[in-house]
Amino acid sequence: MGKPTGFMEYQRELPADRAPLERINDWNEFHFSLSEEKLLTQGSRCMGCGTPFCHSGTVISGMISGCPNHNLIPEWNDLVSRGLWKEAAIRLLKTNNFPEFTSRVCPALCEGACAAGFYSAPVTIKNIENAIIERAFAEGWIKVSTPLVRTCKKVAVIGSGPSGLACADQLNKAGHWVTVFERADRVGGLLMYGIPNMKLDKRVVQRRVDLMAAEGITFLTGTEVGKDYPAEKLLQEFDAVVLCGGSTKPRDLPIEGRELKGIYFAVDFLGANTRSLLDSGLADGKNISAAGQDVIVIGGGDTGTDCVGTVLRHKCKSVNQLEILPRLPLKRDANNPWPQFPRVFKVDYGQEEAEAIYGSDPRHYCITANKFAGEEFGSVKAVHTVQVEWVRDDQGRLTPREIPGSGRVWPAQLVLLAMGFTGPENTLLDQLGVERDGASNAKAEYGKFATNIKGVFAAGDMRRGQSLVVCAINEGRGAARECDRYLMGSTKLK
Ligand SMILES: Cc1cc2nc3c(=O)[nH]c(=O)nc-3n(C[C@H](O)[C@H](O)[C@H](O)COP(=O)(O)OP(=O)(O)OC[C@H]3O[C@@H](n4cnc5c(N)ncnc54)[C@H](O)[C@@H]3O)c2cc1C
Ligand code: SF4
Repeated sequence: MGKPTGFMEYQRELPADRAPLERINDWNEFHFSLSEEKLLTQGSRCMGCGTPFCHSGTVISGMISGCPNHNLIPEWNDLVSRGLWKEAAIRLLKTNNFPEFTSRVCPALCEGACAAGFYSAPVTIKNIENAIIERAFAEGWIKVSTPLVRTCKKVAVIGSGPSGLACADQLNKAGHWVTVFERADRVGGLLMYGIPNMKLDKRVVQRRVDLMAAEGITFLTGTEVGKDYPAEKLLQEFDAVVLCGGSTKPRDLPIEGRELKGIYFAVDFLGANTRSLLDSGLADGKNISAAGQDVIVIGGGDTGTDCVGTVLRHKCKSVNQLEILPRLPLKRDANNPWPQFPRVFKVDYGQEEAEAIYGSDPRHYCITANKFAGEEFGSVKAVHTVQVEWVRDDQGRLTPREIPGSGRVWPAQLVLLAMGFTGPENTLLDQLGVERDGASNAKAEYGKFATNIKGVFAAGDMRRGQSLVVCAINEGRGAARECDRYLMGSTKLK
């Protein structure tokens, strides 16, 4: 612990973001860093708890509490508070292959479980994580590091999202020859073609991918296994296979008028935007533009927020975000005590920006769309909605009930469906004969990651369903460990 009384003496402090009205004019990241002096002070707020819940990553009441990667948070907080940045980076990289991703996009499950947050405000763990890893890159401490000994084993990793990348990185460190298959034209999965540039600059993704390629990992982009490359061939050409294909089937809203033009899945909209941005600075006309349009985003979660931030940068006419659930409370409810992840109302970057432009938060709660209106075989012109109230059914489950007379019609020329994902696609799993669980994900027990097919493992959203980048990294590492054990009889991977 840097300073035993630090948590009593110093307030939590984060750097101010770039102003919303300024940042909506570009696609750059908007977080700044604190000065070194302030970072040391923030690090010294960590109490070095005997039982640090921040790095526990345990499931409490169905929610993950603490860092799923079990990052050694009190250790690197202490090192930072003493100015020992290189040592802090070494500790951080022991458990997390890609802190530069998590420190930008993670919801900071650690901070929800920080003991300082029990009585006041948690330590700024995510911000310190970012400062450590960016310093490590800036100082040249992150270098190409190839394994000293190569095994003669070949492993195929399918999918280059955070789970596939973490898995490939670990297996390469263990000396195996790793080939990552990716059907998209760029590596990164949702890090590249889901999360928008202003939250995660794609140069940050590419920086890591280039490093991994230099360390000996082969990336085959534009190659869909099951279509461009027969899945059965994997089992003949590789000693083991790890499936990291993600949860890629978006949840649809099959209501009247769904066939109208102008209604898109959020992930298609966001992916096309980033591709066009990277290829041509949005000059190639291959993105779906919201310029001058009334936009309705259906879904009040983080993907919906990314849609709001993106359409604002297109200079939309208006944007409204519809959420069927009630608004979360401002403070933890009694049934959501520390160290559970706090289920509380928050204003994310997209809402902050919309409020700066239009004067109000774009989110509307307890509301659901029941019809898309437009000309037959034409484009969407309006979304019809109704308010709902949440009531308990005969079995005590909360269910939405429409409130009579609460109908409303919203003008809309662009509708974005951001309602989550229902599971992985079938082709690859069917061709390999991989069993599914009840939620249609690849069936493989957490911790073992082995599917019913010998030598075939599964990790990330493809195994656990839609989740978070930090969980995907944790799963990729776990699958690599078990794959290494399968190949070599024992493993040193953690
Ligand atoms: C819009 C959006 C924003 C998000 N924002 C955040 C956030 O801010 N913070 C956070 O923690 N999480 C966020 N998430 C969730 C997070 O991105 C995912 O949980 C994570 O990326 C899952 O990682 P993964 O490696 O399992 O799969 P993915 O990232 O989905 O990668 C799977 C990859 O496999 C490829 N693939 C699939 N099938 C094949 C095949 N047959 N052959 C070759 N390649 C194949 C796909 O093209 C894809 O690139 C967001 C998700 C979305 C959709
Ligand atoms: S990965 Fe996420 S949960 Fe873990 S320490 Fe970083 S911000 Fe916290």
